[in-house]
Amino acid sequence: MSGKRDYYDILGVQKGTSKDEIKKAYRKIAMQHHPDRNPDNKESEAIFKEASVAADVLLNDEKRTKYDQFGHAGVDGSSGGFGGGQGFSDFGDLGDIFGDLFGDILGGGRRSSGGRRRSYGKPGADLQTTMNISFKEATFGIEKELKIQRKVVCTACSGSGSADGAGPSTCDGCNGYGEVRRQQGFFTMASPCPKCRGTGQIITNPCKKCNGDGRVSKQVTLEVKVPAGIDDGQRLKLAGEGDSGVKGGQSGDLYVIIAVDDHEFFKREEYDVMCTVPISFSQAALGATIEVPTLSGKVEMKIPSGTQSGKKMRLKGKGINKLTGYGIGDQVIDIQVETPTKLCSEQERLFRELEEYSNKSCNPMSVGFLDKVKNLFQ
Ligand SMILES: [Zn+2]
Ligand SMILES: [Zn+2]
Repeated sequence: MSGKRDYYDILGVQKGTSKDEIKKAYRKIAMQHHPDRNPDNKESEAIFKEASVAADVLLNDEKRTKYDQFGHAGVDGSSGGFGGGQGFSDFGDLGDIFGDLFGDILGGGRRSSGGRRRSYGKPGADLQTTMNISFKEATFGIEKELKIQRKVVCTACSGSGSADGAGPSTCDGCNGYGEVRRQQGFFTMASPCPKCRGTGQIITNPCKKCNGDGRVSKQVTLEVKVPAGIDDGQRLKLAGEGDSGVKGGQSGDLYVIIAVDDHEFFKREEYDVMCTVPISFSQAALGATIEVPTLSGKVEMKIPSGTQSGKKMRLKGKGINKLTGYGIGDQVIDIQVETPTKLCSEQERLFRELEEYSNKSCNPMSVGFLDKVKNLFQ
């Protein structure tokens, strides 16, 4: 029914195996593929996520029973299963192995005593930046380097925030709960612990490079794939390319707003490309074959005799590829008849002669107009 892999296969354990074995198997995968250890590695991130979901189900007795009985349908709310599991949202048991795991990753192996940690890590912030591309790049798509400043895991302390590599220790202000409770009559009021700012952990000897944050600001270069047909102001989402999370938290996303430079000739309207082309008086009157620029080079175009200024002509399929990948716009040519501004005496003579020959059949618009004006004042 679904293309999901079996949770036991993902962790490489036998069905019916003990919780400890599952924890061990998950820890091994998580140690190897944790996003902090594999920054910018999508494959590792996917493996880590998949294993986390599998462990979340198999370490929860209720979910595991349902999974053993009904498969993915038993624990996956989205596929119309039997309710209960929401997959990734609830890390009840997982929180504890994360706690162990965190110690392991940091090399300290220190198990916090007293109280279980309220939360593990903090997600990194989403970032937003603007990328300028040319009209042509927007039309045909491009892969372009983008430099951004983002927070990455501090190498000096491997993200622990501790100078001695010992990792954080349990906050003594809240015993690791991250919140402090006060009894007020019948009520218990809980508020974030001020000493550890709700994290449940404190760093006694902060890393000098990152001041205990576990992350440092760094300029990184990304290769951004801009799809053909993108328009000015549209936004690309690069999942997981934002700030790194704090102490194992998930990375944020990066949003890239596309700014398309103006083009000398072309203007975009949806997927059509607009372009104004001037022609002379005589070309308009007599007809002509002219060269017009398109996005893919020059093409010849026939102007019929008697073409009026402002006439729009379409070049089919010479526009912009639709973002969906299906279809393409047109190029629309806006013909502008240019009235001569400076005439030599010979030209002037010819124009005067021409004017004497003007009549209703060759200038229907202006002659018709004069007739109407005459009628107006009768
Ligand atoms: Zn550091
Ligand atoms: Zn605290």
